[in-house]
Parts: sequence; C-alpha cells; structure tokens
Amino acid sequence: MRSPRRCTRNGCPRQAVATLTYVYNESTAVVGPLAAFAEPHTYDLCEPHARSLTAPRGWEVVRHEGEFEPPPPTTDDLVALAEAVREAARPAPRPPQDEDQHRTPPTSRRGHLRVIPPTH
Ligand SMILES: [Zn+2]
Repeated sequence: MRSPRRCTRNGCPRQAVATLTYVYNESTAVVGPLAAFAEPHTYDLCEPHARSLTAPRGWEVVRHEGEFEPPPPTTDDLVALAEAVREAARPAPRPPQDEDQHRTPPTSRRGHLRVIPPTH
C-alpha cells in the first residue's frame, strides 16, 4: 500500500500529491490531500496539475489551501483530513441523483448496535 502513486494525467510522470474527487450530485470537483486509497470518481494528481485544475462548465472547484505534501508512512491523519475536506465540500446531504452513486450513498449509515445487559 506504500508504493508511490503517480499523477493520473496522460503522460505525466510526476508523483501524485493530491486527489481529485468529483462529487457529481453537487457538481463540485474537490482537490484535497492525497487519499489513502482509490475510490470511484477520484483521480490522483501531481502538484502542478492539482493547482492548474479547472472545472468543467457549470462545476465548482474546491481546492485544498496550503501546501501539498507527499504522504508520510503513517497516513491516518491524512485520511482524516481528506475525509474532512470532502465533508466540508458537501454543503448539504442530498439524495444521490447519479446512477453511479446508488451503490454507496454518501449519507447512508449502518444501524446502531446496542449492548443489552444480561438479566439476573
Ligand atoms: Zn501531473
């Protein structure tokens, strides 16, 4: 899981330092710190491509402020940060409208499990 990831742009040999995520139901492209693992609709980008990204017509770009850095060996904090950036990029949860999102609705949650104490 630690192999360096490369920019996904055609012909670009640079190391990826950022992850681009398309949030289709919000028409938003989020450029955040490198994600720990690949997800649908995400693309790893090198710093020049992350900085120069422009959104398609009608889309917004939410860009990570500050420096992009290669991930350190332990990535728990980066994962949390990347998730926070993505959550911040969603103004309000809405039902997914894109067919691709039916598999994993972003607002779905597992039922809460509760421990029942034994009766004596
Ligand atoms: Zn690149």
